[in-house]
Amino acid sequence: MQIQFLGTGAGMPSKTRNTSSLVLKLLEERGTIWLFDCGEATQHQILHTPIKPRKLEKIFITHLHGDHIYGLPGLLGSRSFLGGEKPLTIYGPKGLKEWIELTLITSQTHLNYSIEYVEVEEGVIFEDEDFIVNAMPLQHVVPCFGYRIEQKPLPGALQFEKAINLGVPKGPLLGQLKNGLDVTLEDGTIIRSDDVTEPPKEGFTVAILGDTRYCENAITLSKNADIVIHEATFDHSTEELAANYGHSTNLDAANVANLAGAKNLLLNHLSARFFPRDIEEMLKQVKEIIPNSYIVNDFDEFNWQQGEMILR
Ligand SMILES: [Zn+2]
Ligand SMILES: [Zn+2]
Repeated sequence: MQIQFLGTGAGMPSKTRNTSSLVLKLLEERGTIWLFDCGEATQHQILHTPIKPRKLEKIFITHLHGDHIYGLPGLLGSRSFLGGEKPLTIYGPKGLKEWIELTLITSQTHLNYSIEYVEVEEGVIFEDEDFIVNAMPLQHVVPCFGYRIEQKPLPGALQFEKAINLGVPKGPLLGQLKNGLDVTLEDGTIIRSDDVTEPPKEGFTVAILGDTRYCENAITLSKNADIVIHEATFDHSTEELAANYGHSTNLDAANVANLAGAKNLLLNHLSARFFPRDIEEMLKQVKEIIPNSYIVNDFDEFNWQQGEMILR
C-alpha cells in the first residue's frame, strides 16, 4: 500500500500546493486505486504521477466544498476518454450525486462506464473480503465525513512441507487449507487449516479525515490506526480562527492522533499563509507529540511496509 498526496493546500490553490486530493494505492492488494477528495486540477496533478485514471475503483469525498470536489467532472470525463470501462463507485455526502449528474448532463459528457453513488451516513459504507470502510461525521461548517479504512487480516502462509508430510496430496486441497478451510483426506483423516498455516497477518488501518475542528469522532476514527491523515489549516498563533472556521491547528491534529494511540501522522490542508519557516516550527511542535509526523507536500508518497510508514 502507498499513499500519495496530489493536493495539500486549503481553500484555494497556491503555486506550491494544489487543493485537496490524495490516493490510497492498493495495487498489490486489489489492483486498484482509491481517491480521497478531488480538488480542482486533480487530473493535472495526476499527469505528474504514474497513476492511471482507469485504475480508480472508488472515490471518497469528505464534503462538498469546492476545494474538495471541483476536480471531479473533468477527471470523470478523462477516465472515460482514457479507456476506463470498469464501474466506479463514488461515496460522499447528500447532494454530491445531483451535482455530478447535473454537470455531466449540462456539459453533455458521456461516460463509457457506470457510476454507483453511495450517500454516506455514519457506519460501515463498504465491506468485502479484504477491506472495511467506516464513516463518521466530523465538525466542519458543512456536513463532512472522516473515513477509516481497515484491511482485514491476511491469511497466514501455508506450511507446505508440513501439509505434505501429513499426507495432503498436491492439488486443490492445499489451496483450501491455505484459505482457512479444514479438509478430509481419502482415508478419513481430518487436517485442520490452523495446523498447517502460519498465524494470520494483521492488515493496516488508515484514518483519512476531512476538514474539521478538533472533535471526538476524529479520535474514534483514528483509534489505534497505523496512519492518521489530518488537516492542519492553522497553527497555534491562529488558534481562534481554527474553531470559527471549522478547522484544526497542527496541535489539534497531533492531540487527536495521540489520544487515538496512532503511530504515524500526516498533516495536510495547509493554509497558504504559512512560510517554510512556519511549517518547520509547526512540524517541530507536532513531532514532540507524535515523533513520526510529516507536514506533507504535493506529490509526497509514503510506503507502508512491514508495519512502518516510510517517505519514498
Ligand atoms: Zn477544504
Ligand atoms: Zn471545507
